[in-house]
Amino acid sequence: MKIRAAVLHELGAEAPFADSQPLKIETLDLDPPGEGEIRVEIKAAGLCHSDLSVIDGSRPRPVPMALGHEAAGIVVELGPGVRDLAEGDHVVFVFVPSCGHCGPCASGRSALCEPAVVANGAGTLVSGARRLHLNGADVHHHLGVSAFAEQAVVSRRSVVRMPQDLPFETSALFGCAVITGVGAVVNTSKVEPGSTVAVVGLGGVGLNALLGARLAGARRIVAIDLHDDKLAFAKQLGASDTFNAGEPDCALQVREATAGGVDYAFEMAGSVEALALAFAITARGGETVTAGLPHPDKRLSVAPVTLVAEERTLKGSYLGSCVPVRDIPHYVDLYRAGQLPVDRLMSETVTFDTLNAAFDKLASGLTMRMILTP
Ligand code: ZN
Ligand code: ZN
Repeated sequence: MKIRAAVLHELGAEAPFADSQPLKIETLDLDPPGEGEIRVEIKAAGLCHSDLSVIDGSRPRPVPMALGHEAAGIVVELGPGVRDLAEGDHVVFVFVPSCGHCGPCASGRSALCEPAVVANGAGTLVSGARRLHLNGADVHHHLGVSAFAEQAVVSRRSVVRMPQDLPFETSALFGCAVITGVGAVVNTSKVEPGSTVAVVGLGGVGLNALLGARLAGARRIVAIDLHDDKLAFAKQLGASDTFNAGEPDCALQVREATAGGVDYAFEMAGSVEALALAFAITARGGETVTAGLPHPDKRLSVAPVTLVAEERTLKGSYLGSCVPVRDIPHYVDLYRAGQLPVDRLMSETVTFDTLNAAFDKLASGLTMRMILTP
């Protein structure tokens, strides 16, 4: 069948994207779902920094690629062998499918699923297939999903069923921003009640980390960003202290205000500078966690003696160390109970026509979560 989708043909487009138009809205051929796959009508797709990182070349991926990975929709067709979903079910996409059988999956670390990492790197579904074609040539899938599209064919293992009464715009957030941000705090770090926490970078993921820190019972939550309006919003969401990362003595200010630094510092901006700041404001004995994805050539300079003599931990967090089928329903319950008000992080909706310009806005850091309705 024919669908419209946003396709990236080249990495490293020049900003502003409103002029360079890196995403072309193309009419693609979408294959029917194969064994263990489903076809989903996309109702809402979040614009995430990881999409921007493919566009600007800092997260190199094979092209042409149909972008988008944080989305929700309705199941419209089941491939052979799919028995635990029905047409009409609402689902959210997860950007790491879990095969359920490899070593990491078996040990509850599905973010590290081995077939998934190979498929995501190659731009295929976890089966190895590509279900998208342009004029007869294959188009790659973004993280097993490709959700900036009217419809998607994905592995059953790339979705989690969602309640029918949840708005699609809200559901979509749970697939990336919520599990990455909240999961980093409650799964990767297991922040204890009474801890001090800092979040560097207040995009969709960073603000979710802030909500996660509140949920975990952090005594003090320090929010850090380059934009004062983001800092003001972080206060409304429960940050106790805010600092502007643009001030040259920001690290010193935070260390003074927190008597030597925080127990847990989360880097959620995707830059080495932000990670260096997060490391600099972590207390002796504390943990620095990064969920950002700077270009693979980037390096962080750390004195090993600091790790040893201060018993410091430097840790990565992917997919919030979540098991999506276990954690997403749990986070939805917390959302409904008012403890994870993730819908407050949505900013505006965009269309295919305004998608490239929306990525300029995302790059500026001035927005929270924009949602595409294809
Ligand atoms: Zn994402
Ligand atoms: Zn696996």
